[in-house]
Amino acid sequence: MSTTKRKTRFQLWSIKPHILVIVSIVVSTLLYAAVVFSLFPSEIRIFILVICVILTGYDIVFDFVRQMIKTRDFNENILIVLAAAGAFLIERGTEGAAVLIIFRIGGVIATKVATKSSDTIKNLIDLRPDTVNAVVNGAIVRQVPGKIKVGETISVSPGEWIALDGVVLSGDSSLDISAIFGGAESVPVRKDSRVWSGSLNRTGVLNIRVTHDFDNSVVSRVLRNVENATEKKSTTEKVIRKYARFYVPAIMLVAIIIGIVVPAISGLPFDRWLTRGLGFLVISSTSALVLSISLTYLAGIGGAAKKGILIKNADIVDTVARTTSVVFDKTGVLTTGKYRVVEIDSLELSVERLMMLAAYAELNSSHPIAQAIVAAADIEPEYSRITNFREIPGRGTEIEIAGNSVVAGNELLMNEMQIKPDKTQIDATVVYIAVNERYAGRILLSDTIQPDAKKAVKALHALGIDRIALFTGDNKEVAADVASQLGIKEFYAECLAVDKYSRLKGLMEMQLSGDKLVYVGDGVNDQPVLDAADIGVTLGNVATDQEFENADIHVLTSEPSKIAAAISMSRGTVKTLRQNILLTVGLKGLVFILLAFGIASMWMAALADVAISLAIVIDAMGALGMKVEEINKLRPRRVDDKGDIDNTELS
Ligand code: ADP
Ligand code: MG
Repeated sequence: MSTTKRKTRFQLWSIKPHILVIVSIVVSTLLYAAVVFSLFPSEIRIFILVICVILTGYDIVFDFVRQMIKTRDFNENILIVLAAAGAFLIERGTEGAAVLIIFRIGGVIATKVATKSSDTIKNLIDLRPDTVNAVVNGAIVRQVPGKIKVGETISVSPGEWIALDGVVLSGDSSLDISAIFGGAESVPVRKDSRVWSGSLNRTGVLNIRVTHDFDNSVVSRVLRNVENATEKKSTTEKVIRKYARFYVPAIMLVAIIIGIVVPAISGLPFDRWLTRGLGFLVISSTSALVLSISLTYLAGIGGAAKKGILIKNADIVDTVARTTSVVFDKTGVLTTGKYRVVEIDSLELSVERLMMLAAYAELNSSHPIAQAIVAAADIEPEYSRITNFREIPGRGTEIEIAGNSVVAGNELLMNEMQIKPDKTQIDATVVYIAVNERYAGRILLSDTIQPDAKKAVKALHALGIDRIALFTGDNKEVAADVASQLGIKEFYAECLAVDKYSRLKGLMEMQLSGDKLVYVGDGVNDQPVLDAADIGVTLGNVATDQEFENADIHVLTSEPSKIAAAISMSRGTVKTLRQNILLTVGLKGLVFILLAFGIASMWMAALADVAISLAIVIDAMGALGMKVEEINKLRPRRVDDKGDIDNTELS
């Protein structure tokens, strides 16, 4: 199975302290205890303590030298080894060895905690069961999901998790899709319904024809997304790493000033000040902070993925947290994009004939309006009758059929062709039809508002997002109607794609520096706008990898309320980051002051460092934004949970 391959691709998710390191630490701890609790002569004591330092520090020195040669970067862990070695010079070898041992034990525990946390996050997202029931020639065969190919059939019983995306061939059931899409939705499914991996089958047996193999099913793609998102280092992390380059020599310099220069100049006692200088080296480590920061981003991005919100990388989390404006595209975002023809007004032609011509004009267009018109016309289309099909984005379409030219489109298109349509009493989306350059009639359509759009606007207001705007290519009446129903004050109607782009640019220019603007679109005709916004968000299509890629954030469901969720998740993550950076800097500063006044000793500094490290690594999981136990109940049992699912025949 591909489990092992999957695991190693996650950097943070696979960090394990080296077994040799643990053995060295254990051995030197025992040696250290022997020194402390027995009455060796002092030469032997020192000899054993030196061995302790070598055992617990040799790999740090190797790493330091290797890194120095390779990248000319200082590995900051060397500071601790220097502190321990320096302690021997002032006859404080016992304390020096203790400091190094404490530091290494703390490091191992912090790494262990981080690994456990990242495994937890991975398990929350990895909703793939280990086995599936494949239907082969009418018989059911247990298989690993990775072996099932597109077009094959799987059978899923009630209580089982769906492993692969597909279409229901037979059976009725209700699916719990909350684990993969977030929220607490239960969806009924029957023959021909689409189903997704990561859903829990509740009530009936389903036979499913697989449409996406294991690697391309939605759970695998979400997992891959989180993996890619956290692989790249965040700017915050890079800054800290870059800092480390100057940090290590700077710390050394300060330590030398405190430990050597101060007593040399002032005549104060050497060993006391040297101890303070060495203590300063002990508390200067930042490795736990770097670990905590990566883990915080992983938790934030993983927690968002758990709600069906895919964030492309760590920097986007920082940007989203600073959102002050949200601009929504109307069609397919705030409305369902499922149009319905509500009225047909024909001038001279019969209604049937007008609808037939309109349907032919729209036959080759994929616009939701076009599809509604084709569906309403109810014709058996003969594609060969259409010649010269042309689609004018944001305006409409044009064809020739049996020697007649037919144009279907909005007012803009009619104006351009100098055709005067009937503009009375419009409060819906309208498509005007012109035949041979003469106005022939119009079709009014209505679109329904997305069920949670109102909640979406309210939730944004509650987060203090003061500017919410609506862009649409539709007419003013419809735009005003949708905006007022949802409580949106600012709207821009009759926008072509280029208008949306320049309006967006305008809104962005009005922002204060540091404030960020989110644009939410459907990816149809609005790619330039998605790219231009500080953050581009697409909603609701799990079909292709492309859709996962084209935006900064992709939401798996078509719920605009997920925008507010993304903002508050990001704010939570940034808050956790800040908290841990402040905690580290504050507490270490405090220890430094205590050291400078001779109140704290070296080993106290080492203990404080371990405590701070553990605290910030544990705190990182706060960015997940939910209780792990609760979600744990809701996921498929894996072989490695307990090892009591007998799978031997499969491997
Ligand atoms: P939006 O997503 O904001 O509705 P679009 O660019 O998709 O913007 O469409 C803008 C407008 O252009 C539509 O409201 C409609 O009036 C017109 N339009 C676009 N394509 C077609 C089409 N195939 N047939 C008729 N009208 C169309
Ligand atoms: Mg659109």
